[in-house]
Amino acid sequence: MPRRLDAILGSWALWPHLYSSGRRRELWAAVRAVSPPGPAPDPAGALVRPGQPRSPPAAPCSKGRSGALLREGRARRARDGTGRGGQWRGTGAPHPCCVCGMSAVLRGALRRLRPPRRPGALGAQGRKEASSPSAGKDRADTVIIGGGCIGVSLAYHLAKAGLKDVVLLEKSELTAGSTWHAAGLTTYFHPGINLKKIHAYSIKLYEKLEEETGQAVGFHQPGSIRIASTPTRVDEFKYQMTRSGWHPTEQYLITPEKVQELFPLLNMDKVLAGLYNPGDGHIDPYSLTMALAAGARKYGAQLNYPVQVTNLNVRSDGMWEVETPLGIIQAKRIVNAAGFWARDIGKMIGLQHPLIPVHHQYVVTSTVPEVKALKKELPVIRDLEGSYYLRQERDGLLFGPYEREEKMKLQESWVTNGVPPGFGKELFESDLDRIMEHIEAAMEMVPVLRKADIINTISGPITYSPDILPMVGPHQGVINYWVAIGFGYGIIHAGGMGKYLSDWILEGEPPFDLIEVDPNRYGKWTTTEYTAAKARESYGFNNIVGYPKEERFAGRPTERTSGLYDLLKSKCSMGFHAGWEQPHWFYKPGDEIGYRPSFWRTNWFEPVGREYKQVMEKVGVIDLSPFGKFKVKGTDSVKLLDHLFANVVPKVGSTNISHMLTPRGKVYAELTVSQLFPGEFMLVTGSGSELHDLRWIEEEIRRGGYKVEIENMTDEMGVLSVAGPYARQVLQKLTNEDLSNASFKFLQCRHLKLSNIAVTAIRISYTGELGWELYHRKEDSVPLYSAIMEAGQKEGIDDFGTYALNALRLEKGFRAWGAEMNCDTNPLEAGLEYFVKLNKAADFTGKQALKQIKEKGIKRRLVYLTLETDNVDPEGNESVWHNGKVIGNTTSGCFSYGAQKSLAFAYVPMELSKVGQKLEVELLGKNYPATIIQEPLVLTEPTRMRLQKKGESPKI
Ligand SMILES: Cc1cc2nc3c(=O)[nH]c(=O)nc-3n(C[C@H](O)[C@H](O)[C@H](O)COP(=O)(O)OP(=O)(O)OC[C@H]3O[C@@H](n4cnc5c(N)ncnc54)[C@H](O)[C@@H]3O)c2cc1C
Repeated sequence: MPRRLDAILGSWALWPHLYSSGRRRELWAAVRAVSPPGPAPDPAGALVRPGQPRSPPAAPCSKGRSGALLREGRARRARDGTGRGGQWRGTGAPHPCCVCGMSAVLRGALRRLRPPRRPGALGAQGRKEASSPSAGKDRADTVIIGGGCIGVSLAYHLAKAGLKDVVLLEKSELTAGSTWHAAGLTTYFHPGINLKKIHAYSIKLYEKLEEETGQAVGFHQPGSIRIASTPTRVDEFKYQMTRSGWHPTEQYLITPEKVQELFPLLNMDKVLAGLYNPGDGHIDPYSLTMALAAGARKYGAQLNYPVQVTNLNVRSDGMWEVETPLGIIQAKRIVNAAGFWARDIGKMIGLQHPLIPVHHQYVVTSTVPEVKALKKELPVIRDLEGSYYLRQERDGLLFGPYEREEKMKLQESWVTNGVPPGFGKELFESDLDRIMEHIEAAMEMVPVLRKADIINTISGPITYSPDILPMVGPHQGVINYWVAIGFGYGIIHAGGMGKYLSDWILEGEPPFDLIEVDPNRYGKWTTTEYTAAKARESYGFNNIVGYPKEERFAGRPTERTSGLYDLLKSKCSMGFHAGWEQPHWFYKPGDEIGYRPSFWRTNWFEPVGREYKQVMEKVGVIDLSPFGKFKVKGTDSVKLLDHLFANVVPKVGSTNISHMLTPRGKVYAELTVSQLFPGEFMLVTGSGSELHDLRWIEEEIRRGGYKVEIENMTDEMGVLSVAGPYARQVLQKLTNEDLSNASFKFLQCRHLKLSNIAVTAIRISYTGELGWELYHRKEDSVPLYSAIMEAGQKEGIDDFGTYALNALRLEKGFRAWGAEMNCDTNPLEAGLEYFVKLNKAADFTGKQALKQIKEKGIKRRLVYLTLETDNVDPEGNESVWHNGKVIGNTTSGCFSYGAQKSLAFAYVPMELSKVGQKLEVELLGKNYPATIIQEPLVLTEPTRMRLQKKGESPKI
């Protein structure tokens, strides 16, 4: 029975005393009493089963024939893969609204009303020719496990790119996981820089998919508006505007008046601004998948269902045996795209993918007269403070909230016990109690909702990874095993991720940088408890303000803490890096302590300046234990490293900075390489790239058949860095080894004892000042740290954190991997020529490509800018302007405590890259004057020493 929203909630707004949870329960008991009966709650997750409807079918379409009839016809044709957009229009002439994402909702109702199919009945027969692996191939290049929007998109893209022998195995029918009941929202917006590309590709693909495949997809693009109702939100929008200005996406910051013009049914009382993306909208996820499936088949992929993958075995030659009840398929590569079953697939090969299903609900209303009276479709709105999305659904509204973390529901039993057999086309029982506060917020923002009847509620599983970003790419530690899992927003990601993964599979390297979705960002430290705590937080934080330098605290600390964690945790503000806690900045009496995020300079601004001064004038200590550390040894170790790295292999006792390039000459990774003994190396990488780099190296070892051993020492080894003019003086007190410049030169490494503790010392420092990195057993971290602090009393030694380190490295002009260099940049435009030895004998990966890039000449270049700002500093990814046009983007930035002004790296076109060039950088809605300067702003200590020796006066 339809339920009017104000009947449920309106009274609550009038009588606050009814807000008690007891009263809520009573009210909802009354509401449930009039709802159709459902199955008894299942301990595995309160499922609504097919054939036991929980809500009535939607009202008939007002714009043509009966909506239900139309949709049934569409659904059948879509199911059978026979629907053609043209035919629809020619015969039934439904209003475009009938082809919208609502069909997912109705199809939900339809499916739940439809009796379970007998094998061989209409649907199964219709698919016969495309199914049956026994009738098809028993060998494949790529086997994709899962026929949701993600798996099917990958099959489409691989086949379209010409890959033969692509086989997709689906255990029941296409879309029978999360896909069939999704709300279908599509948006250009994403705060992640490269994820914008994924969204943009998807939207462009969806726009032309019907034409290409003959299958209607129900794509509506009425635009979308994010609503700001606090000043901080307005700052956030400005921050997001500057980050999208250098992307082709259309996005505008609009006034309340414009918001109202676009969405006339809004209560404007609290609206301060809107972030408007004109190309946004929604799509029918079921039809989208069917269109991709039609395309995949057209280009030669086999989509086989119902065929369940029951086991996986990898052979010693790297080939996979994919077991199904119908036989074994041998494959060169497998891709896990099994949605909320992805964890079960992982378990088959001993992997614990950090995924957990969450319950997500949305509500559909019947016709709202004011909506019906509109001349054009309303844009989607996202009320960020109310934490919900709302869009037009034919002549009614569809509304989907994200509950707070303490209220949202996880499906934990599926993690421990696996997904119950048979679940797929079912839904969870809806629970409107959980979303009451969002319904109230929505009724206040869109008052016509008060009079609306709920005609359908959908509650389904979405698979969450801890950070809500998917895991896409090859998995470290298992050969030829790829994943495309953990999609919180799979409908908008399907197109772009299918293409991204297909390009990577076919070309052997990612088409562009997307480190944030690398499956190898997780590791053994991502336990089930951690995953659950994080998924809860990520769901609840869906619409919170996204600050620069954002920290989230659920699930911390993990079991992966540094040896110094307990000693330092109360003395500093910790940051989270790949499972580790690492000091960002240290407290002193009088400081406003803790994490106080802002778009402007905030509580850490002065303390970081203090730490900067500490290192520049005295000596500081920083915990760098989160670094990824590998030992490589064996007869072929030199040969391997010579092939892997663009730099030469360092001599015994020496260290250098080396880059692994992709075959196309992009910067895949940056590592510090030290040859400790003949043929024995220590490789060090950043905390976020440990398994990312290890996978690449292992792959190369396997491919080249190198005789080497590689050992990951990350968790066992601690790292302390001591830096500043007194670093030598302090450390010398702890050892008899000669640490003088003559004896222990810059970029030398050696084993020594400090206060009787064994360390591998490298004379290197990311601060650019005199310094050593001290690698030691994790259990020695506290005694080593204590000995150094004790020894440095007289010199005024003190701690410093990563924020000061960042300012110090930027002043020295040191590039950071992931910012100035990544898979989107080549080392020539990044200014890394010094580290790339094109004339060395070894044919390192990327060498030929880089030679060609050099010959052709580069089009853009990394430049170094100072900025005239006020209370704000660049972070990276801001738009760079010249003559009223965006011409580039910053990559990282900070306040330079040395120059007392803001500093940034930026990519700009060659013709605008000369020293002295005047540009502008957009920060929080304002363009600030910027000038390209000669780098570095501050010379490194070794350079200063060299110049001093020559009698020149070095600048600091
Ligand atoms: C209520 C709700 C609303 C949503 N709204 C949106 C939205 O508006 N926009 C958006 O972008 N996203 C939305 N989502 C998220 C989106 O639905 C998912 O991210 C997306 O559908 C995931 O697709 P998938 O292909 O990864 O997984 P699934 O669709 O779950 O597909 C996985 C497939 O793998 C198959 N499979 C599993 N195990 C095996 C096996 N052993 N052998 C063979 N096959 C197997 C399953 O049968 C299933 O068909 C929503 C989700 C929900 C629940």
